[in-house]
Amino acid sequence: MPAPLETLAARLTRARDATYASGLKALLLTPSPDLRYLLGIGGESHERLTCLVVPAEGDPALVVPALERPGLDGTPVLRLGVEIAEWTDGDDPYSLVARVLPKFGSGAARVAVGDAMPATHVLGLRAALPDCTQVLASTVLAQLRMRKDSAEIAALDTAGRAIDRVHARMGEWLRVGRAEAEVGADVAAAIVAEGHTAAAFVIVGSGPHGASPHHDVSDRVIQPGDLVVVDIGGPTPEGYFSDCTRTYTMGEPAYSEVADCYAVLQAAQEAAVAAVAPGTTAQSVDDAARSLIRDAGYGHRFIHRTGHGIGLEVHEQPYIVAGNDLVLDRGMAFSIEPGIYIPGRWGARIEDIVVVEEHGGRRLNHRPRELAVLPV
Ligand code: ZN
Ligand code: ZN
Ligand code: ZN
Repeated sequence: MPAPLETLAARLTRARDATYASGLKALLLTPSPDLRYLLGIGGESHERLTCLVVPAEGDPALVVPALERPGLDGTPVLRLGVEIAEWTDGDDPYSLVARVLPKFGSGAARVAVGDAMPATHVLGLRAALPDCTQVLASTVLAQLRMRKDSAEIAALDTAGRAIDRVHARMGEWLRVGRAEAEVGADVAAAIVAEGHTAAAFVIVGSGPHGASPHHDVSDRVIQPGDLVVVDIGGPTPEGYFSDCTRTYTMGEPAYSEVADCYAVLQAAQEAAVAAVAPGTTAQSVDDAARSLIRDAGYGHRFIHRTGHGIGLEVHEQPYIVAGNDLVLDRGMAFSIEPGIYIPGRWGARIEDIVVVEEHGGRRLNHRPRELAVLPV
């Protein structure tokens, strides 16, 4: 489900204007969330070059392999005034990019290439445009993509509600005696059943595995007294992601320090959400959570940033991290997900997606944030 045509057209115009304002000659994008944002088309960047060329002045063009051209029928691309430049196997697609670019005078110039463009294309483009220095496309596009419009916020809200419904059913699957992987398979099916197109990630970190923030699932069998970190999400049909963590306990926690630590964690998550407002910085939101955890003596156990932006990608700008003095603005959406991790014992994390609104942050996840006690 691509964004409406007029939305895409406006984004293309803004991208071109931002390219011009940045003193760049062009924006070069292979299939990626950036391309989905501007053209409403998905797909993957294979070895054959598909490349959107957005010149600072002039009309955009899409360089596309002839065999991929029929796939554009029915997509917004053909109605956006984007020139289609086809190539066939045996042609040099990189020199085709150079040819569709409006001529700019001799001497040094800069072009932006997609942040995750495969190196094979980056180097091919560099060879075809030897006078151009390459910079990252995020220098132009992050400012656009960070500020979500109301339809994007609505899509994130839909995603948040869908993943909340999965957490609400966790007791159906998360039980003592089951392996993390068995629980994870059921959760993945529920993520799809509740309205996502796929389960992008399912972390079921039980007991000591909870202390590894990006644990996946394993064959470890869930024990009485385990804390279990469940961090799950996926894309909706609009392409916008959910991402929500809750921590469960199988009966009474096995470790006596858990209750006090968890109370600190919950207060830290609350404080960070409360710190969200237009005009405040990303790093001050991180600090709101981190200072509470540090003061309780667990600063060294909170081993990651407080959050990440979310939208067409699970992780995108803005990053809620020390050193990021980016000023938050209305329409920005990101996670607030502090954690405390005790190696070899347990971990806990609380994660909600928060949108910056006029008067502060609004959560898009609504499940209770207390340690959720499941029966053993
Ligand atoms: Zn993460
Ligand atoms: Zn996250
Ligand atoms: Zn997460």
